[in-house]
Amino acid sequence: MFCICKFVAPKKEKINFLQMLKKGSKLNSILTGTCPRCQNESMYLDKNPLHFSKLIKMHEKCSHCGLKYEIEPSFFYGAMYVSYALNVALSIATFVVSYLILESSIKNSFISILVANILLFPFVLRWSRNIYINMFVSYDKKFKK
Ligand SMILES: [Zn+2]
Repeated sequence: MFCICKFVAPKKEKINFLQMLKKGSKLNSILTGTCPRCQNESMYLDKNPLHFSKLIKMHEKCSHCGLKYEIEPSFFYGAMYVSYALNVALSIATFVVSYLILESSIKNSFISILVANILLFPFVLRWSRNIYINMFVSYDKKFKK
């Protein structure tokens, strides 16, 4: 007998994963850098983290919901802790891949950790800010200013 469950099951998983990325989820705001409350616009002046001169320049408020991004003075200093955690996770992942999977020497593994941390620095910096502000502000569909 022909069974369609094989073909249906993976598709369902895919939809669930996509729902995690949908507007309204914290993951969406973290990955895209949009306002954590309304998710209608980017918090950053320049969406591209590779434009270094505007890497940490942010709008003062959201023009849609009026959320002030810097909730209190020097709010984003706290993102340093998130950044530290992200960098440790990145370093461990790089070490596992280079030393255990690619079987390179210990010296080359540490060089690859350094290279990965330098190359991903702008992304880690923005993700840590996004994660940090999402720890304090939740998505609110009905919010109007
Ligand atoms: Zn907003």
